Amino acid sequence: MKCIVWFRKDLRLTDNPALQEAVRLKAQIIPIFILENSGPWQPGGASRWWLHHSLHQLNSALNNSMHFYQGDPLPILLELIKQTQATAVVWNRRYGPEEIAVDTRIKTELEARGIGVKSFNSHLLFEPWEIQNNQGKFFQVFTPFWKKCLARARIEPPLPIPANMQLMSGATFDLKKLGLLPTKPDWASGLRQTWTPGEVGAQQKLANFISRIAGYKQNRNYPAQQATSLLSPHLAWGEISVRQLWHAIHTQIRLYPVLEQDALNFLSEIGWREFSYHLLYHVPTLPTHPLRQQFANFPWQQDENALRKWSQGQTGYPIIDAGMRELWHTGYMHNRVRMIVASFLVKDLLLSWQQGEAWFWDTLVDADLANNSASWQWVAGCGADAAPYFRVFNPVLQGEKFDPEGEYVKRWVPELDLLSADYIHKPWQASAIKLKGAGIELGVTYPFPMVDHEKARHRALEIYQELPRSTSS
Ligand SMILES: Cc1cc2nc3c(=O)[nH]c(=O)nc-3n(C[C@H](O)[C@H](O)[C@H](O)COP(=O)(O)OP(=O)(O)OC[C@H]3O[C@@H](n4cnc5c(N)ncnc54)[C@H](O)[C@@H]3O)c2cc1C
Repeated sequence: MKCIVWFRKDLRLTDNPALQEAVRLKAQIIPIFILENSGPWQPGGASRWWLHHSLHQLNSALNNSMHFYQGDPLPILLELIKQTQATAVVWNRRYGPEEIAVDTRIKTELEARGIGVKSFNSHLLFEPWEIQNNQGKFFQVFTPFWKKCLARARIEPPLPIPANMQLMSGATFDLKKLGLLPTKPDWASGLRQTWTPGEVGAQQKLANFISRIAGYKQNRNYPAQQATSLLSPHLAWGEISVRQLWHAIHTQIRLYPVLEQDALNFLSEIGWREFSYHLLYHVPTLPTHPLRQQFANFPWQQDENALRKWSQGQTGYPIIDAGMRELWHTGYMHNRVRMIVASFLVKDLLLSWQQGEAWFWDTLVDADLANNSASWQWVAGCGADAAPYFRVFNPVLQGEKFDPEGEYVKRWVPELDLLSADYIHKPWQASAIKLKGAGIELGVTYPFPMVDHEKARHRALEIYQELPRSTSS
């Protein structure tokens, strides 16, 4: 028999239940990837770059047997089934609302034609519908959600690479035809310098992180340090599974009990990922509409100029400019800095969280619909378990606390390189002599702050205080 293995966000051979199923069936395997070009959340530029390289790696691991397609998956699958006489299609599940709708429709159509369809969980530790509160509803607060997950955690051990894969040869389509790479201009050099997409790169990242996990809990908030795992883009495309992380981390705890706090803290971040998927599944409008109703008519400003300064890292607040430039150059931004730049956009500039979400979607290599929308709503104060509205990050104090020597700022904002640490987060307060000595001319070599943070904070708080009080969602 022949079985189509439809790869989507599971671009790996290890711990891949759909692939295992095809092997279990002793089928000739037809591995495929379809670049779907309908629906509102097409991969952004940075994700497309990643996807190209990840598919290239996966195809090599599968002896160049992958078939690549572009378009509506149903007619593509039907035509392939006709050509190959395949009798089964298997895939691992995905959780975006449009993705669920596509998969449901395809399952129904294929089964109606007598094709066997089977889907699996490979992306999450827990299916979003498995975890419920005592009222049988979904959770809107992280801590009890994660407690419930941990109480029932018996995570299956990850599956090995299947032995004896019978891959059907004869794929001819050139990956380049999907047009995933930027050409004119080729803006991806920073991404190439920073990342190694693919399953091998993901496993190396995990091994490297495990060797330096001591101190994660303490150091993960300091953007100049390499304290976090940098696994997010690998997780986004499923080049490594959360089950693999879970077991690798627990093995480490057994070997070195002293690492327990750091390791559990890391797993709770994986818990935030699970929580974001839980929310997206139960609230399919999460990427577009505020979870809290009272934010529905928030008076967001329209200001293209302000949005441009923010996205180009020209706000005049060094920590923000460093973050936005790190993002542009590498397709990544440290989590602490993501929170600071997001707070600045929605609270200091009063630009909508959806605009920030869209920019991140296009520029992040780890762009992930669940994590991105849940995180933006969290910062804006309109999401589940959201940061309280009065929490407005002060970009100077945040910089001084989490980048005390200005190391991170200097890495990404080299025009401030010679400024001393006491002014690195507030260059406009440095004396004319200091600025001159550091080769800085404000308004020329580096911008003045685009807004006065204190005034902007008061303006935001006034608006937030006028919102209807109801907290119902
Ligand atoms: C405004 C904003 C937007 C974000 N957009 C995304 C996004 O599109 N994709 C994305 O993967 N993460 C997003 N995050 C969450 C977080 O910033 C990144 O997951 C993290 O910085 C990735 O780095 P890491 O892999 O080194 O993290 P680690 O600290 O090593 O964490 C391990 C993994 O846990 C998960 N994780 C960590 N923090 C969070 C979080 N707050 N919410 C959900 N999952 C988390 C990620 O999968 C991450 O790879 C966003 C955060 C904010 C504030």
